[in-house]
This record gives sequence, C-alpha cells and structure tokens, in this order.
Amino acid sequence: MERLRAEAAALDEYAEYRRIVGDDDGGKIFTPEEYEEYKRKVLPIRLQNRLYVSWRSPTGMDCKLVGPETLCFCTHRYKQHKTDYEVIPKDRPICVPCRVSRCQCQSYHYVPLNGTQPIRCRCKHFADQHSAAPGFSCNSCSKCSGFHSCFTCGCGQPTYAHETVVETKQERLAQGKPVGQDVPYAAMGGLTGFSSLAEGYMRLDDSGIGAPSAELLESPVTSMDHPFLKAFEGPSSSAQTISQIAGCSTATMQVSHDGRSEEDDMAYFEKRYQERLKKEKAAKQTEKSPVRSKKP
Ligand SMILES: [Zn+2]
Ligand SMILES: [Zn+2]
Ligand SMILES: [Zn+2]
Ligand SMILES: [Zn+2]
Ligand SMILES: [Zn+2]
Repeated sequence: MERLRAEAAALDEYAEYRRIVGDDDGGKIFTPEEYEEYKRKVLPIRLQNRLYVSWRSPTGMDCKLVGPETLCFCTHRYKQHKTDYEVIPKDRPICVPCRVSRCQCQSYHYVPLNGTQPIRCRCKHFADQHSAAPGFSCNSCSKCSGFHSCFTCGCGQPTYAHETVVETKQERLAQGKPVGQDVPYAAMGGLTGFSSLAEGYMRLDDSGIGAPSAELLESPVTSMDHPFLKAFEGPSSSAQTISQIAGCSTATMQVSHDGRSEEDDMAYFEKRYQERLKKEKAAKQTEKSPVRSKKP
C-alpha cells in the first residue's frame, strides 16, 4: 500500500515535470539542479510573456482556445511549436513556428475538425493533404490555390472567415478578453478557465454550462511575486523523485506522456487549479484575512 502511494506520488511529480518542461530537456530528464535552474530561468519568462492563442470568428468570438495538445494545420501539436519568448516580438502577427525538424510551418495555424474527421478544402482534398509552407498549397492536385474551407463552425461562420490569433496578455485585456490564472506550464496557449478546451459557444463556467463567469472575466492581472513562482523557489525534494523515476521509465509513463489528448489537458489543469485554490484558501484562513467573496 505504502509503495503504491509512493509510486502514485512519483507519477504525479513526473506529470508535473512534463507539463513544465515539455520537450525542453531533449529527452534526457534534467537532474534536480538542472530542473531548478530551468524553472528559475523559464518560469518568470513564461508568466511575463505568455502568448494567448485562439481561433477567432469575424464576430470577435474565440471559437477555439488552443491548448498544448491542439493540432496545427501542419499536423503537429501546439506544444511542438515555439511557445516561450524571452522577448515578445514587436511585429504583428506574432509568429509561432513549428520546431519539428523539416516542418515548413511558419506559425501555428488552427484548423477545426468535423467531429473526429479532418475537414475538406474547396479542392476536395483534406486539410492534411496540403503543404504547411506559407500559401498552404495542395499536395494532391494542381487546381488548388491554397487551403480554403467552407466548413461551418459552431458559431455559424465558415472556417475561412476565422483567423488564428496570437496575442499578449495586455492585448487581450485591452479587448476585455479573459486571461485566466498564471500557470507555470508550457504551451498553455489560449487556455484560461480550465474548462475552456470546449469550443467557445459551449464553454463551461464554474457552475456548469454557460458563458465565462464575470469573476473569470474580471480576474486581476497578477504581479511577478506570483504564488507559483514562490512555490517553485528553492530546491524541492520532489526533483529527487523525478530523477529516480527517470531511471525506470515504465511503459505507463510513456503512454501518459505521448498519448495525451486535449481532454487529458483539461482534466489535468482543472485538477491542479482546484488543488491550488484549496491551498490558497487554507493559507488565507491561517492568515485570518477576509476570504475573497465568491460569486454564486
Ligand atoms: Zn509542424
Ligand atoms: Zn504548425
Ligand atoms: Zn486545396
Ligand atoms: Zn487539392
Ligand atoms: Zn466560429
């Protein structure tokens, strides 16, 4: 029993490590010292320079909030693109190129699915039969002038009328769009409320089905002395556990890393978010400061 619990904790630590480091360790798990160094260097950048990625309807609605596992037109996932910027580029649109070797994708480009099926271009070929290089020409015919799909989104607008938007926190706030909580994880893209992987028109809020709550929309911008940064200060005992499991890379861990889906992301971030809320609440109660009022 004790051993099982220890193993579960180790797997939890490993999952957290993966969410933070992504593929930045080049497949060789960081030593505890390297991990601490990585967090010291990357987390402030991530909190400061997070890029929000969404797929926007001409009506201004974010019909899709892109998360780590969300596929790009190039067939790679958002997390496989360059998502951390030490300095945010001055030019607009901001480019988020694919990091997979030989992929020609210059910037993340969301393309919806029809249920679980890829959508078709007006040339009748599927999205993934087109080149990811600028111009998105078709690899299967010569009459295509670049990918163009009339597939209708849940918002009623055709796919081609939408655009993939990459923006900073300031740019989103200026438009009154939610920026959510600050998190240390890689490639969070547009995920704000953690139930936000659902498409825009059916997104969930705290209480169930509905529009994002006013609380979420008005959530304050937090400063650099963020609880997450504090939490990650100093060497943690957990780093040891991670390097230990690194030694025995079990099949389970491979599966949980490589077989991740958007739904897993949602469940994972929701879980960590709830844990954090609980922790913050407990901390506030010990401080004896007034508990933040929660909207019904
Ligand atoms: Zn790619
Ligand atoms: Zn791409
Ligand atoms: Zn085409
Ligand atoms: Zn074609
Ligand atoms: Zn739409």
